[in-house]
Parts: sequence; C-alpha cells; structure tokens
Amino acid sequence: METILVLAHTETDGSLAKPVREALHAAAALHKSLAGSKLLVGLIGEDVQAAANSIAASPATKYFGVTGADFSVSRYATDAAAAEAIFKAAQATVVVAPATSRWARVLPGVAQRLGGRADTHVTGVAVADGKISVNRWYYRQRMEGVLTRTQRPWIIGVDPGSHTPCECGAGAASVEMVPVNLTEANKRTTVVGIREPKADAQTIRPDAELLFVTGAGWTKKQADGQTHVPEAEKLILGFLKQARASLGSSKSLVDLGGEGQAVLPFLSHLNQIGQTGATPRHAKGLSTCCHGEEPHTVGWRFIGERRAISLDPNCGWARGKADVLYVADAFAVVAKVNELLAAG
Ligand SMILES: Cc1cc2nc3c(=O)[nH]c(=O)nc-3n(C[C@H](O)[C@H](O)[C@H](O)COP(=O)(O)OP(=O)(O)OC[C@H]3O[C@@H](n4cnc5c(N)ncnc54)[C@H](O)[C@@H]3O)c2cc1C
Repeated sequence: METILVLAHTETDGSLAKPVREALHAAAALHKSLAGSKLLVGLIGEDVQAAANSIAASPATKYFGVTGADFSVSRYATDAAAAEAIFKAAQATVVVAPATSRWARVLPGVAQRLGGRADTHVTGVAVADGKISVNRWYYRQRMEGVLTRTQRPWIIGVDPGSHTPCECGAGAASVEMVPVNLTEANKRTTVVGIREPKADAQTIRPDAELLFVTGAGWTKKQADGQTHVPEAEKLILGFLKQARASLGSSKSLVDLGGEGQAVLPFLSHLNQIGQTGATPRHAKGLSTCCHGEEPHTVGWRFIGERRAISLDPNCGWARGKADVLYVADAFAVVAKVNELLAAG
C-alpha cells in the first residue's frame, strides 16, 4: 500500500508556486489510481498555514509542516533536514515533489539519506497493473523512457510545466508541525539576498503562452546591403513587451557576441533553444529570421502550434518543422504586428 507524500516549499511570501499545484495534481491522480493508497502533504517554509489553507480542498488527508525563519530560504542543509523529518513523520513510500531549482538540488540527497531512489525531470506519472511508472526524456529530448521502481522510498521530481495545476480549493487545513533539530553546522550557509534581473529585463518566461524565437537573420545584411541591428532590437523588444512572450534564440545568434559581431544585448545562451539549449513548453511558438535546422528545431519538441517567418522558402521550417511558414521579411511583419498590438 503506497503512502504518497507531496513535498513542497512555500515562496517567500508564504504562497505556493504553480509547480507545487502541478505536482499535487500528479500525486492526486496517482492516489486515485492506487486503491488503498494515502495522500499526504508536507510543507516547508517560514509559515505554512496560509499555503496549506490555499489547497485545503485537495484529496490529501493530512498536512505536515516544518516552519521557522531557518526554513524561509533555500539552503541545502536545512531543506534536506526538513524534508527528511517530514518524510519520516509521514512514513511515506513515494514522494512527489515539484522540481523547482530549490528542490532539485536537495531531493536526490534526501533520497540517498533515506536509502531510497530519486528520479528527476519526470514529465508523467501513471499506474498500470497496480505499479507506478514515470516518464522522462533522454538524449536531449529525443527518446522518451517509461520506468518503474521497486525501491522505496521513491522520490519523484516533477518537471514544472508538464502537468496541469490542481484546482484544489481553499479552506482551513489542520497542519501537524514536525520538529527539526538543527545544528550550527546546518546554518553555516547564509543567504544574504537574491540578485535577479529587473522584471522588464527578464526575457525568459516559462509561463508565457507564446515562445518568440529570434535567429541570426536579424543581424544579417538585408535587401539594402546594410545590417539593421538597432531596429531589430526595437522590434523584438516591442513585440515581447506587448505579447508578453518568452524569448528564445537560435545558437548562431547567441554565439555572435563571442565572435565580436553586432549583437542583441538582451540575449544570452540561456535563451538558446535546441539540441545544446533549452526545450521549453509553450502553447505556441513563432520563429523569426531563423533557418529552422534540426539542431535548433529539436528544442521545439514541446511547443504546440509552430509558425515561422523566413525569407527562405526552402528553409527547415518549410520541410515539416512548422505548421505555418510565412515567406516574408520579418522586419516588416513584426513592425506591422507591433502596430496592430499597440492599436489593441
Ligand atoms: C552539435 C551542434 C549542436 C547545435 N545546437 C544548436 C542548438 O541547440 N540550437 C540552435 O539554434 N542551433 C544549434 N546548432 C546550430 C544549428 O545547426 C544552426 O547553425 C543554427 O540553428 C542556425 O541559426 P539561424 O537559423 O539563426 O541562422 P542562419 O542559418 O544564418 O539562418 C538565418 C535565417 O534568417 C533568414 N532571414 C534573414 N533575414 C531575414 C528577414 N529579414 N526576414 C526573415 N528571415 C530572414 C535567412 O533566410 C535564414 O534562413 C547546433 C549545431 C551543432 C553542430
């Protein structure tokens, strides 16, 4: 009989992020498919009551909490101690956790301490013949594997964006507090602050509906024999601002910086999509000035509807990589789209 524990941390404001609701949705589906299983929730943070209340109508039968100022920040030693304490109090056999950056670096270590196993980057969980199986992708998202494990505890890190968030309503949850004895060594690391780009400089938006991809064409000589990099910058940023899209790029464009060529300053390798870049999940994607070669388009595996704007009617997008290819000048198209978006 499995005891499934959803293990989560709160945000600094005490709320639960979307990936927690996604993990809860996956765990609730497991619980429903496994007769006789129990579903429990464990929360870690400075204060977890508001977070527990926000999901009080979930199918979980019990809530555990580890609270206090020591648990408000992401720190391996205290997070691992808290996760271990909740796990033991819940006597769980399976842990389903959101693979946030905070949890991703802690949970495999917790599995090791508990003599269990951890699977990361899980994109699906299911039950067949009473056995739990998980899906994950291998070899830069080219092959999907399905695996089961007999080892317990089994910690399953669910990739954000791979499940729909649970619609668990709010209410009043009763949280059983779990004590954790921290030593001075556990608190040796001090978090002094968080450095992050300003909100309007943040171009990678995993929750955006649309992925807008820029290719090297934006910096190439155009029909008049000239490059138009400042204009490209204005058009791209204008589109991102109005469409609230996430910005992706081809490798060629982000590599230009290292080659000393004129570049778009807001792009970095973090924006790169493809075989040696990211494989984001968005409902729609629009590629601009990019050739759509295989090492790039392999990163579009999880993009729903795909469209591309390229001057080249024989580009990769035309060869089955896109649902719609506009053979057009992206400078002209994006300028017109921005104009229409501004007009509301
Ligand atoms: C091992 C390996 C790994 C790789 N990994 C990646 C990866 O992770 N991601 C990745 O992106 N690439 C990767 N690549 C590189 C990849 O093969 C391509 O070289 C790269 O994607 C090309 O980028 P691009 O299409 O932007 O540039 P280009 O090939 O230069 O294409 C530019 C396109 O812009 C069009 N264009 C120009 N002006 C306009 C205009 N005004 N309007 C519309 N269209 C216009 C041109 O017609 C052309 O089609 C990898 C390659 C290797 C060998």
